[in-house]
Amino acid sequence: QDYRKWETTQVKTTCPYCGTGCQINLVVKNRKIVDAEPANGVANKNLLCVKGKFASYKFVTSGERLKKPLIKRDGEFVPVSWSEAINYMAERFGTLKSQYGPDSLAGFACSRSTNEDNYVFQKMVRTAFGNNNVDNCARVCHAPSVHGLGITLGSGAMTNTIADITTDVDVILLIGSNTTEAHPVIGAQIRQAVQHGTKLIIIDPRNIDLVKNSTLHLQLKGGTNIALINAMMHVIIKEGLADEKFIAERTEGYEAMRDLVADYTPEKVAPICEVAPEDIVKAARMYALADKAPLIYCLGVTEHSFGTEGVMSMSNLAMLVGKVGRPGCGVNPLRGQNNVQGACDLGASPFDFPGYQKVGDPAVQAKFEAAWHTKLNDKIGLTETQALPAAQTGRIRGLYIFGEDPMATDPDTNDVRRDLENMDFLVVHDLFMTETAKYADVVLPGLSYAEKDGTFTNTERRVQRVRQAAKALGGVKVDYQVFSELATKMGYEMAYDSPSAIMDEIAQVVPSYGGINYERLEQNSGLQWPCRTLDDPGTPILHVDKFTRGKGLFKALPYQPPDELPDDQYPFLMATGRQLYQYNTRVMTDKTPGIDQLAGRSYIEMNTVDAQKMGIKDGDKVQVSSRRGTIQTYAAVADVVSVGSVFMTLHYHDGNANVLTNPHCDDIAIIPDYKVCAVKIEPVAAP
Ligand code: SF4
Repeated sequence: QDYRKWETTQVKTTCPYCGTGCQINLVVKNRKIVDAEPANGVANKNLLCVKGKFASYKFVTSGERLKKPLIKRDGEFVPVSWSEAINYMAERFGTLKSQYGPDSLAGFACSRSTNEDNYVFQKMVRTAFGNNNVDNCARVCHAPSVHGLGITLGSGAMTNTIADITTDVDVILLIGSNTTEAHPVIGAQIRQAVQHGTKLIIIDPRNIDLVKNSTLHLQLKGGTNIALINAMMHVIIKEGLADEKFIAERTEGYEAMRDLVADYTPEKVAPICEVAPEDIVKAARMYALADKAPLIYCLGVTEHSFGTEGVMSMSNLAMLVGKVGRPGCGVNPLRGQNNVQGACDLGASPFDFPGYQKVGDPAVQAKFEAAWHTKLNDKIGLTETQALPAAQTGRIRGLYIFGEDPMATDPDTNDVRRDLENMDFLVVHDLFMTETAKYADVVLPGLSYAEKDGTFTNTERRVQRVRQAAKALGGVKVDYQVFSELATKMGYEMAYDSPSAIMDEIAQVVPSYGGINYERLEQNSGLQWPCRTLDDPGTPILHVDKFTRGKGLFKALPYQPPDELPDDQYPFLMATGRQLYQYNTRVMTDKTPGIDQLAGRSYIEMNTVDAQKMGIKDGDKVQVSSRRGTIQTYAAVADVVSVGSVFMTLHYHDGNANVLTNPHCDDIAIIPDYKVCAVKIEPVAAP
């Protein structure tokens, strides 16, 4: 510690990593952040994980930060002034728009950035670009939650609060969530609940750390969630444990679902999922008979080629036993990035204007045309997963990427490279020179969370303040001003005085944010949407007397095998996910030296039986190939995965798991299947 307490001030803000939304005090000396300490937020109760405590500020002052706009000339990046960069962007985007039409441009917003930045970014795409080709990285994580919960319950968001689902509950049903690594502070609260008597059921293909705290672990085969949930529902109905009153009064579509699951006996489903039939029965009884039992899920449910159906099956199960709209229950997706909930809420989506108001609905179009004083495109836009490959067919010609790195995050990296190389004009706006930025025509420096004011919305729908702690890096423009100036140069005038003024505009056009402003956020510990009026205290639990869509909708969802299964040529089933120390592309965590020492290289988890058969030892270098490419990485041999399955984290450029992953997408949310692809593994001989 190189400071004395009395030399410092503390600025309370929100952690920039996962969707838990932990409150942090950044310790500031001479306008520079020197430390981070936990603050007492509603979601984190004075806890922080290793990323929040140690990796939340060193990247802010890293010497690798981008400081000036860069234009690529003759293959080299040349520093230029902001006005030159913005004029050049306006001219290049404008030319493409007149030559190929407005639909030839697209923009990816940033789920790490503030609500205010995201709102202005999507407004720039809709007004100045003139289309709805705007998306955010929810497309590659929780887009199925937005679609699936939207279809079945009416709101694509967590139904209850973090405190509510981890305090005094009887059973927690945890599906496809490695909570202690991906949402560590929620993981800690689940552990505390177990210490106080809560029973934990885990449905997960890996032997994750929380299994030690569980009563029951169903280690199912990857990609078989829907079959398993259908079998649990079969048991519940057969044993008379369904909540008939709730079903009759509050739901629709039950009969079709009931008829479908009649075939899903535990005996039939057990071999598909590779679990014991009696464990399916046990899990169904424990969940149905508990009074308070939240269902919590994460990317193990969503990142599939049938991810939206997987999410809808979560709603089916909870509604079947009447566990929605009540304290200590609900359907609770743990959103990934710090502000991925907010980016979706505020319209960084090709399907929705801000507030999930539908593109193409004449009343919604008229509302936004009146509010923004311009004619708007009424065609649903392209998702990120559609817009990138559209560069190869010439349908998309110009792309603005704000704070995303598809070369690291999107499936089939070799194909993403071809997409970027085919783009006529690419702008990347980020903190650092990312892999994707190397392919850009213009690179813009962005501001970090610690250098700006704004808000993030966490996984429990809580809008919380982000407060400027450090002096903004010299020469870097405020992000929303860049979008406003570009829009203005392209013919749509836009200017904002402050993030607070942007939130006031959001409150005017988004009914569920209607009662939110900065003054109220200062007085409260954040506000949970829907918060419709200035005297509305916010909504901790959704769907209490009525579902947002009126009645809850059951969907009959047959199990379908994943798009690509292991075969003789590629015999292992591979899934990807996160680990505790690193965060997504590592663009921020790898600037904290201690973190990189703990988890500095890529690895692939293998079962000991498979490793022994192939003569591979823990730490050996191996070559991993799929139909899309080949990488080298290191074996991590232990019994975390089952025989025949392997697992890689998604964080590393050297040994990038996404060279291997399958770009095949779900039909509704257009999300790729990161959780199931077929690979082969070969030992690499020592030199
Ligand atoms: Fe930050 Fe998430 Fe860790 Fe909390 S749990 S400190 S929000 S990374």
